[in-house]
Amino acid sequence: MELWYTEKHTPNSGLTIKVKQTIYKEKTEYQNLDIIDTEDFGKMMLLDGLVMLSEKDEFVYHEMLAHPSLYTHPDPKKVLIIGGGDGGTLREVVRHPSVEHAVLVEIDGEVIAASKQYFPQVALGFNSNKAKVIVGDGIKYVSQTDDSYDLILIDSTDPVGPAEGLFSPDFYRNCHRILTDDGILTTQSETPFIDSFSRILPQVVANFKTLFPVTSLYLAAIPTYPSGLWSFTMGSKKNCPIKDFQQARFAEDSLKLNYYNDSLHKAAFSLPNFVQEMLR
Ligand code: SAM
Repeated sequence: MELWYTEKHTPNSGLTIKVKQTIYKEKTEYQNLDIIDTEDFGKMMLLDGLVMLSEKDEFVYHEMLAHPSLYTHPDPKKVLIIGGGDGGTLREVVRHPSVEHAVLVEIDGEVIAASKQYFPQVALGFNSNKAKVIVGDGIKYVSQTDDSYDLILIDSTDPVGPAEGLFSPDFYRNCHRILTDDGILTTQSETPFIDSFSRILPQVVANFKTLFPVTSLYLAAIPTYPSGLWSFTMGSKKNCPIKDFQQARFAEDSLKLNYYNDSLHKAAFSLPNFVQEMLR
């Protein structure tokens, strides 16, 4: 008997992948957490039936959420990650020699535990002595903390359930409040292709524009995410990702990456016409 996993992106289309076996199944306090092993994409983590990551293409999302901001800020030392319990974004952040502290606030401790057990190559960042993990609500954390950060990366699920508030103007205002004077806030902002998702992207950009003088959208190709084309929104208090790109530091660090590089840093911010139109 063949076993197939399908994530419906609309009532009429989706992604279908042949499954070898289900490895883990749990109903946590916040969501259904499944781990499956697949023929073509390796192990995959699903939350409420939606793809969070696959072993095959996780590097694209995690590198592209982290490095464009880390190489736009002139000297990122303190980084906050909201969500991101699989540890992939944290792995990318702690690679940077300039980063001294990385704090990750994830609401669901079971996501962290499952990632450590089943995705050790993704969860690598948890082993770093620069990393601190807080199991709690990121919305509450940014509204209450007195700590400040050079960079905040929002690695969230879609805006439903506990992640709904991670797309709200209030949450963004609190992030802006705890950023340093040249701080940067970057969030995943869904796909521009599929109607139910693409309504979110212009709202995120509009909200960022009310707070940040430099707001930039960029794109990356992620095969297992809806439509395969994903967007990220960067709000910066001072530095521009193109004009202030820290190319010399990028060359000096010579991180071994699979997707991000200096040409791609610049190219990712060049938007197709239909996306530019969405932002008008
Ligand atoms: N790369 C993924 C994507 O775009 O599909 C995101 C993956 S990451 C595992 C998302 C994490 O955000 C989940 O583990 C979820 O538990 C966490 N999360 C959702 N709402 C949260 C909140 N309010 N505070 C902190 N973490 C939250």
